[in-house]
Amino acid sequence: MNRALQAELLRLFGYACLGSLLAAPFDAPLVGLCLGLLGFIWHHLWYAAALLRWLDAPKKYELPDGVGVWRDIYTGSYDRWKQGKKRKRQLRAIVSEFRASTAALPDAAVVLDADGCISWFNEAATSLLELEGSRDRGIRISHLIRHPEFAAYLASDDTDKTGIEIAGPAESGRILWIRVIAYGQGQKLLIARDVTKMKQLEQSRRDFVANASHELRTPLTVLRGYLDMMAQEAESDDVAVQAGDKRHDDGLAPWHAPLQEMRRQASRMQKIIADLLKLANLEASSRHASDELVDIPALIGASLEEAMVLSDGQHELVAHVDETLNLRGNQAELHSIISNLLSNALRYTPPQGKIEIYWENRRNGALLRVCDTGIGIAPTDLPRLTERFYRADTARSRETGGTGLGLAIVKHALERHEGQLKIHSQLGQGSEFACQFPSARTLTRDALAKAG
Ligand code: ADP
Repeated sequence: MNRALQAELLRLFGYACLGSLLAAPFDAPLVGLCLGLLGFIWHHLWYAAALLRWLDAPKKYELPDGVGVWRDIYTGSYDRWKQGKKRKRQLRAIVSEFRASTAALPDAAVVLDADGCISWFNEAATSLLELEGSRDRGIRISHLIRHPEFAAYLASDDTDKTGIEIAGPAESGRILWIRVIAYGQGQKLLIARDVTKMKQLEQSRRDFVANASHELRTPLTVLRGYLDMMAQEAESDDVAVQAGDKRHDDGLAPWHAPLQEMRRQASRMQKIIADLLKLANLEASSRHASDELVDIPALIGASLEEAMVLSDGQHELVAHVDETLNLRGNQAELHSIISNLLSNALRYTPPQGKIEIYWENRRNGALLRVCDTGIGIAPTDLPRLTERFYRADTARSRETGGTGLGLAIVKHALERHEGQLKIHSQLGQGSEFACQFPSARTLTRDALAKAG
């Protein structure tokens, strides 16, 4: 048994004996015993009352020293109170440090409860989102940021992903990037960043590339025209040179080879410029492609014919096409996707290789796949293939007339159709380029007939 409790039992015995002894001369030992017990109870009540009074206002009252079990209770309570005070002080310091650091953040941070109502926000939120302390705390964030895209993003489960860009509060003219991160039990942290400057820079970069490409196109067409004309004249010169016996070893005029090289390089530049302009157009267009009805089987047929001309009978080309499946989208962009993938498959597949194109209806939408048995792609190159001018095999790309922009165009055009590009490949084994289109854009012949 605890020593303090043993002492209390002794004290109880002492009180009882003292009461009985004091009452003995009056011949009432029982009354004396009761009075002794009452004294014992009063002793404890007095210490309990002192504890309660101190607990109520620990700064105002002092704890008495206490005896017996009360000494232990008092020291224990005092120590705990002291520890609590210290912890509170530490917490207060952490909270004020957190407040100071979030106040210094240039990004707006808003804490939302499980119902999407604002429970806290930092300084930056007052300027970026135009929130006001007393007015907006406790209000649903969707009532304050009235943007259909934001409402859809907040309601969706993929809030932890990339975030969205929306126009800031009306007057500000800002563009905000918003990301919502779920934590705890249904709470969310909303981060908003001002990306106006970055967007402006991006826009001026895009404008620069588009303008430069546009400006270069006309002089290059003129140059190409003259080169073609000179090449024609050179051909007749070749004949003349041969007749005059001033021929090269190969029997051609000395300017024949440089002229051909100049024509080849000029046509490469024309292709690069055409692709840069195509990309610029894709970027300048609205986020979503139009939704005109596009006959994909016919488009695949036309692209296959072009591919056959390019292949010149060197590859086996096979199509597995669901003839009833169509898409809503932009015909030129969809054609660009198919022809770029087919042209890549041809250019990176050695002669006698096989190229297959699949067009199928899947549960989650339509799937276009272009598979080849070509040179394949190393795993380290896969994530970077859709970057502009990124080439896994630079020599082969240039040799076969590649611009390094084909897959960037495919990715952009797909994004405008809410589609996704997935690439599977193994070096030396071949590659598969899969374009997934959402169900909302697919249209079967049956659905078309029903729609009337
Ligand atoms: P390029 O005009 O150079 O082909 P793309 O953007 O179309 O540019 O493709 C980027 C790079 O991806 C290519 O340079 C090539 O290395 C690689 N690539 C694309 N398609 C294939 C394929 N079917 N097989 C192997 N490599 C490919």
